[in-house]
Amino acid sequence: MDANSQCRDSGSHCRTYCIRRKQLHPLNYFYFMTNDSFPMTLCKEMVRNERTLLTKVENGSVMRSSKSIRFLVLHCSATRSNQSYSVEQLMRDHKQRGFRTIGYHFYIRRDGSLTQHRKLLEVGAHARPYNRCSIGICYEGGLDENGVPCDTRTKEQTERMVELLKKLHVLFPNARIVGHRDLPSTTPKDCPCLDAQEVFGWIEEL
Ligand SMILES: [Zn+2]
Repeated sequence: MDANSQCRDSGSHCRTYCIRRKQLHPLNYFYFMTNDSFPMTLCKEMVRNERTLLTKVENGSVMRSSKSIRFLVLHCSATRSNQSYSVEQLMRDHKQRGFRTIGYHFYIRRDGSLTQHRKLLEVGAHARPYNRCSIGICYEGGLDENGVPCDTRTKEQTERMVELLKKLHVLFPNARIVGHRDLPSTTPKDCPCLDAQEVFGWIEEL
């Protein structure tokens, strides 16, 4: 019996089971991450519902190892290109959503300045249900001056993103570079308003 059929049979226990097996095809990983049933026990904590998973368990927990990182997920802040969205504003907005701190691991402002808000193996809050296997990188922007979704990256942002993704690729050579919108069963329609593979996919080949 392969890992996938085991997962289907073992219901709410499949998460623990699959993680123990360690040898997972990415599609199996998709399967059990998108079929959470509640309540569940995760890292010895009882999780009653999705909201708890998002704000309590995922927030601040730590991934098992660097092998857990399967995706480097790009986001935009969904703010207008003529609008400033500071780290402090981002922090305030994410705290209002119940996060302990900024949900992304990295934030890149229009001038190219980079800040880190989570440790690399700390579970973020940016792409549920993929937070336990990904690193979140957000650039400031993503809407044009009229509020229409648009790739608004500045030259400085692009340079900084390339630099960061190259470093992360060395640390997590098997992680795929994807946009938030590329992940099945997540909600954003446009984020990050660019084709992650087309723009940054070449870094995976280095
Ligand atoms: Zn996003």
